[in-house]
Formats: sequence, structure tokens, C-alpha cells
Amino acid sequence: MLGLMQEWPLLCHKILDHAARQHPDREIVSRSIEGPIVRTTYREARERALKVAERLERDGFSTGDRIATLAWNTARHFEAWYGIMGMGGVYHTLNPRLFPDQIAWIMNHAEDKAIFVDLTFVPLIEKIAPAVKSLRQVIVLTDRAHMPETALPNVVAYEEWLEEAAGGYRWKALDENAAAGMCYTSGTTGDPKGVVYSHRSNVLHGMIAAMPDAMGISSRDVILPVVPMFHANAWGLAQSAPMIGAKLVMPGGKMDGPSICELLNTEKVTFSAAVPTVWLMLLQYLEETGETLPHLKKVVIGGSACPRAITQKFQDNYGVEVIHAWGMTEMSPLGTLATLKPECAEFEGEKLLDVRMKQGHAPFGVEMKVTDDENVEMPWNGQKFGRLKVRGPAVARAYYGGAGAEQFDEEGWFDTGDVAHIDPLGYMQITDRAKDVIKSGGEWISTIDLENLAVGHPEVLEAAVIGVPHPKWAERPLLIIVRKPGKEPQKAAILEFMEGKVAKWWMPDDVAFVDEIPHTAAGKIKKTALRDQFRDYRLPTQ
Ligand code: AMP
Repeated sequence: MLGLMQEWPLLCHKILDHAARQHPDREIVSRSIEGPIVRTTYREARERALKVAERLERDGFSTGDRIATLAWNTARHFEAWYGIMGMGGVYHTLNPRLFPDQIAWIMNHAEDKAIFVDLTFVPLIEKIAPAVKSLRQVIVLTDRAHMPETALPNVVAYEEWLEEAAGGYRWKALDENAAAGMCYTSGTTGDPKGVVYSHRSNVLHGMIAAMPDAMGISSRDVILPVVPMFHANAWGLAQSAPMIGAKLVMPGGKMDGPSICELLNTEKVTFSAAVPTVWLMLLQYLEETGETLPHLKKVVIGGSACPRAITQKFQDNYGVEVIHAWGMTEMSPLGTLATLKPECAEFEGEKLLDVRMKQGHAPFGVEMKVTDDENVEMPWNGQKFGRLKVRGPAVARAYYGGAGAEQFDEEGWFDTGDVAHIDPLGYMQITDRAKDVIKSGGEWISTIDLENLAVGHPEVLEAAVIGVPHPKWAERPLLIIVRKPGKEPQKAAILEFMEGKVAKWWMPDDVAFVDEIPHTAAGKIKKTALRDQFRDYRLPTQ
């Protein structure tokens, strides 16, 4: 017997229809690439997204075509996304922090037919475009007056191109399982792999992200997604915010401390999301200037492990709640969030902070388990760590073109490549990437735990831990440190600071000081490069 409820496919453009109807005058405020702050509304964004869809169709693009975007978070990028999806196209976000050759490789792999590009990236696309065979059109997200001189063929100014729309377009009728978006993971090894989101997965993920024990956002919030739309879908906020009718504040290309602080305070932002680096810059700026955050209530921090000091400062100095989150491009991207279950709501001080430092528990729609290398499931005791595997309606079931098939098993589990444990309350804690974990004498040492501990030292700016070959233990940890400007902490002082806070056999065998630690385009520590750099390093314990 089948249910007798309506067929109402979960399509992304329905989100914008809803926002325009229920919250028509709610603002989308952007720091434009041209400079000034510009304001639009969900009603206008919908009208313009319909024009994007119409114009794309008129230019010969159709269902299933991949349309790239190389752009910061602005209202124009947001409209372009919805316009692309609403005509059946597939938005393909590109990370401008990748090398031009990598971007060209990714565009060729996805066979992008057109691209929306910010003014900032016109010189970049000039380098890349000739190498992308499928590319037929470049739409620069600006008006005629700001169009730069360019030798690019088939290039148009977005505003002028939109004006040519006749109006009256109707969204394409689509299957909810149709592709809606694409994003390549910038892995540290091998070719990038394409993740293909569907309308259904994007809608469900948007709903999951907004839930009270996930991001917990509502129409009364003012949301600043610092996390870029080009990196893991802005953590779903480009869907959740219009779904719930929250005001959106888009930071454009400026993510430095003063620029973010200005938007937070002038636009009365209550909720924001970003990687730890952004918050470090903001907190440093606040300390230097004595500015405060009178409106901000909550920030979600993820993408890499959130240092304890960030959570503590936000909480104690500014009254802002920090929610640590974990996810990945393949999960749309949210996986877990460290919101408080009633069992730990009464915790205080360090005990509470310990819970907040975990990557969190899974909302409905994310199943997870931890297994050993033989696929035997580990108990949820908060100690046994192993490979973290996930399942859910917004988790990838394959990569585009079939790459990386070994990460998916026949029961539908996706191996995240992260190493983690889960405690009896369901809070998951990442202890490493599978390829970074240090295997010392047959036991595993978490490099992330050691890094978090080391950055707690007041004179340490950044820390990375890698395994260095050792004749007796196979591998031993080497701690690599970038000192804070003007500070000269020595090896002994750093090790002394760490002592007693981790198992003795976890303590680094040595400390090396460097001026800079290399990062991937997604802002994560590039351990492969560090391992190369320290390939011939000899530990004093050898
Ligand atoms: P990406 O697909 O670029 O977002 O990268 C996903 C990976 O980032 C995950 O598999 C983790 O290794 C790492 N990651 C994301 N969030 C966290 C977090 N809160 N703590 C530690 N690692 C994280």
C-alpha cells in the first residue's frame, strides 16, 4: 500500500520561491567586489535568478550542463547558483586558491560549458580559459561600467546580460534526483575528485543544517557565511538561510579581521560560520583594537580542528557560543556538530570545554560508525579509535567518473579517511587523517591532539605534527612550530608545557622551528609537503 500524499519533488529553486513569498523583503547584504556595500532582497534575488535561468537557456545551455562559478560570497553568486539550478544546470564551484593548472584540469574533467566569474578572477580565467575545450562563455559578475579590458572570447558583463532577459521564465520541471551542483575535493594527493550534489540532497542538507541541534538558525537570525560558497557549499547556508528566511550578509572577497568585524557589527550579525584561521584573525583584531561583538551570538567553526583557545576567548571575552563542526565536501558538507545534549548541559569549566572541543554528534540524516582496518565496528566508548564511515541522503555514493571507488562499500558506507572515536553519548572526536596518524610501536598517536596541545602555548602561532621514521618504533612524532612574531619559545619550554597533558609515549621526540607551515588550497596543513621537507630529518632519539 502506498501513501496518499502529494508528489512534491525536493527542488532547490523551491527554496527561493519560499523565501520570496514568505520573507520577500529580508535583505541580502553584500560587500561587493567593486567596493561598496550593496543590498538586495529575497524577492529581487528570485527575480534575478529567474533571469539568469532564462538567459542561460537563450544562450543555448540546457539540462545537465555544468556551469562553473569562480566567485566570492555575494548576492550575485547566490542568484547565479539558483538560476543555474532552476534551468536544470549544475553549478560547479571552483576554488580560486588552487593553481591555474589544477583549475583547468578540474574544468576539463567536469566539461564546464560556461563560467560566472568575479572581477578579481578575470586575470586568472584569462590564463585558464584557452586550456578548457568545453568552455563557450564567460560571464563577468559586474556591470558594464566596471568591465575590464580583456581578450577573452565570448565574454559578457552580467548586469547587461541579465537586462536582456524578457522575464516570465518558469523554473524547469526536474526530477529531485537530478544533479544540482558539483564541487571537487582538493585532496593532498592524487587528482581532485568530483562530488555531484542533487536537488534532493541539497534541500535535505539545508533542512538538516538548520535544525536546532545542528546550526539552530531561524528567521530572526542575521547570518554571515564567511565560509565560501566555493568551499563545500558554504556549509549549506546558501540553502538554509533562504529556507528559514534569515537575513544574509555576504563578505565578498574581504575576510580579514577589520572587514569581518565591521560587517558583524554594522549589520547586527547574530550567527556566522568559518574556518579557525578566520576567527584567529578576528580575535587578534579585537584584542588589538578593544572592539567588542555586541550582536554576535553563535559561530560555527570547522574545516579543521578548532583550537581550544578560540572557543574559550569567544565564550569568556565576547559572550559568543562556539559550535565545533566536522564535515567534508562529500557530505554536502555537514557531518557532526558539538551542540550540547541534556546529559552535558550542566557541565562547567574545563569539562564543558572538553565536550565543545569534540567534533560533535550527528543530526538525523547522518549515520556514522568507526571500524578497524578489518571493518570490525568499534564500541562507542570514547577511546577506541579507527576509520570513520558515514551514510546518509546528503552523502556521496560515488565520485564523478567513478574515481575513488574503494572508499565506498557495498553496504553504502563511505570511508571518510578520517580517524576518530565516538563516546557513549554519541559525540565523535577526530584524532587524525588516516594517512597522517602516527603508528608508533603498533599503537596509533593522534597528530591533531598534539597540535591542539602545542598551539595552546602562548608563544606558539601554529603547530604541525608528522611521523618521522624510527628504527625501533617505526615512526615517532616530530613537532613543527611557527612562533608568534617577536617570541622565541625554546624546545624545552614547549615540551614542558605539553608534559602531563598526553600519554608519555605520545610526547614528540623533537621540536623543529620554521617560519611558515605550508597549507592546501582549502586552508589545511599540507602534511605531504612537510613530510617531504623533513624527509632526511634525524630524531635525537634515533
Ligand atoms: P573538505 O572536504 O575540504 O571540507 O575537507 C574535509 C576534511 O577536513 C575532513 O575529512 C577532515 O579531515 C577535515 N575536517 C573538517 N572539519 C574538521 C574538524 N572540525 N576537525 C578536524 N578536521 C576537520
